[in-house]
Amino acid sequence: MIFAITTLGCKVNQYESQLLREALTARGHREQPFGSPGADVSIVNTCTVTHRSDAQGRNLLRRALALGGRVIATGCQAKVYGDALRALSPAVEVIPFEDIGPALDIQLPSRITGFCGHSRAFVNIQQGCGNFCTYCIVPHARGVPRSRPWQEVIGEITGLYAAGFREVVLSGINIGLYEGGLAALLEKILKETPMPAVRISSIEPWTLTGELIRLVVEEPRVCRHLHIPVQSGSDAILSRMGRPYDARYFRSLVEKIKALNPGVSIGTDVMVGFPGEGENEFGQTRSLLEEADISYLHVFPYSPRPGTPAAGWGDTVDPRAVKERVALLRELSRRKRDAFVLSRIGMEEDLLVTRAGRHSFRGVTSNYLTVEAQGKARVNDRVSVILEEPCEGYVLGRAIG
Ligand code: SF4
Repeated sequence: MIFAITTLGCKVNQYESQLLREALTARGHREQPFGSPGADVSIVNTCTVTHRSDAQGRNLLRRALALGGRVIATGCQAKVYGDALRALSPAVEVIPFEDIGPALDIQLPSRITGFCGHSRAFVNIQQGCGNFCTYCIVPHARGVPRSRPWQEVIGEITGLYAAGFREVVLSGINIGLYEGGLAALLEKILKETPMPAVRISSIEPWTLTGELIRLVVEEPRVCRHLHIPVQSGSDAILSRMGRPYDARYFRSLVEKIKALNPGVSIGTDVMVGFPGEGENEFGQTRSLLEEADISYLHVFPYSPRPGTPAAGWGDTVDPRAVKERVALLRELSRRKRDAFVLSRIGMEEDLLVTRAGRHSFRGVTSNYLTVEAQGKARVNDRVSVILEEPCEGYVLGRAIG
């Protein structure tokens, strides 16, 4: 059988698509790129974090339907809003990810051995979230928190190292809820695997412990990069969102990390136009983000998700105001990134080579900067570089050693 998979959304979805790919290949099936004719089965692994991801999911399914063969929708949109996908055509099979094995007559493996199309492998360590932020549909799609046994995580990372990977990203829905502590898991990974670089994916501010911070700022094999979603700088909005911290807490967290190691890159997510966000509340968000020593922002306009409490609140924000606020924060993000790059010029950084040419290579540093340097290297090498000059979207560097 010939199959094709396309994946929307987060690292957990990417990981699950890889499990699926490996299970199908192990049964002797052959993969081809999604969207080209001839697939016996096309699988869309959907996301439902915003209405835009829903629309993308529907478009991909329409594309697959036009090509013929079996069309399967799995992932979060399929789980939560399956009826809307069935409504596209009776030919769309809506199958929650946990049921996909029997539907395709395969058994999902307990671990991945590669990561198609990526130089960094994502390693799923955790599932689910019980926080139920008032805008978020994810707990409905992914259920309560469950952690993967550490022995499985270690086994997977050891196998990925043997397969040539030199960086892994610990991923999950809310990884700070890892049972037994994320810091303890990291210590075990450092002790029991040879993986030279371990990156932590997005981590909620209230789960970022002192021990985790110590590992990020001190331990050379843990990437000096933290993505800590703040969502808003207004205490009133944070409370309406059901987020258990305030702006002062986030500010002091950033100050603490940067005081310990100014080379750590700190990114954040911010949501614009949440119900009740007036000029005053937006101003508080903007001031917090202007003042905090962060390196970049991911800015999202609020998207009401049917079935969440916030979707039923009436106090929506004028779309023109949302557009202006998004533009202001994206401009701020550019300034933040430039300032962080400038602060690192002349410094030595360790990077993972992600692309190699005959006389130059490109890679991503431990602290999440894209660098281009002259010299010879192979994809997946780890190389030390001196950062020399900022360019549009990357930094010019010089390889050393
Ligand atoms: S912490 Fe909040 S935003 Fe994050 S997955 Fe859980 S409910 Fe969603």
